[in-house]
Amino acid sequence: MTGTLLGVWAHPDDETFLSSGLILAARERGDRVVLVTATRGEQGTDDPACWPPERLGRLRERELESALAVLGVDEHRFLGYGDGACADAAEPLAARRIATVIEEVRPDTIVTFGPDGVTGHEDHRAVGRWTTRARNAVAPEVELLRAVLAPGFTRRFAAVNDAFGVFMDDPAADVDPGLHLRLSGDRLDRKIEAMLAQDSQTRRLVEGAGPATFRRWWSEEAFLVDRPASPQAA
Ligand SMILES: [Zn+2]
Repeated sequence: MTGTLLGVWAHPDDETFLSSGLILAARERGDRVVLVTATRGEQGTDDPACWPPERLGRLRERELESALAVLGVDEHRFLGYGDGACADAAEPLAARRIATVIEEVRPDTIVTFGPDGVTGHEDHRAVGRWTTRARNAVAPEVELLRAVLAPGFTRRFAAVNDAFGVFMDDPAADVDPGLHLRLSGDRLDRKIEAMLAQDSQTRRLVEGAGPATFRRWWSEEAFLVDRPASPQAA
């Protein structure tokens, strides 16, 4: 997996939670990384009185900028969908918009959500569907990585998963990922730093779980690998 990496996600912080290891490895090789985020995550709060959507959206844009600086990514764009409204958007049009980005960026690898959206969030599932559809339409030769939970994650982190409500459904049963990254050392330090930069989303998790558990909790990344069909012999 080398060359340009295109990540397509639903909310600021999805890229960091689910693909920091991929991003850091790509940037260490000097590969180009382009990220797309469908929404500004403006509904992502338990305290909407204090954080009305417009204010939270602005904060999350700044937090994302800080996280991407830590990850070494300088190419990012928003699609401008409403947080929580992706599943209601017209899928063909959304897929067409992502296809336009694919045609412009010409990635070697695309990464997005797996079918269950990892956490079960409807925005995640929708963006995973849009991106898969876009890739199949305009770039079937490009490798597609779809984020899933790492093997054993559900069992090993049942206590924190239950305590913090990160998962909307019961986490899906283990699937066998084609790509499983275990982060440690400097890469894990950078991932944690990028997560902490998105304080509005991570503070309660770090404070609740404790820094050591938080670090272990997000130290693995796993992806289903959809390799392009080999070209047919003429
Ligand atoms: Zn999300």
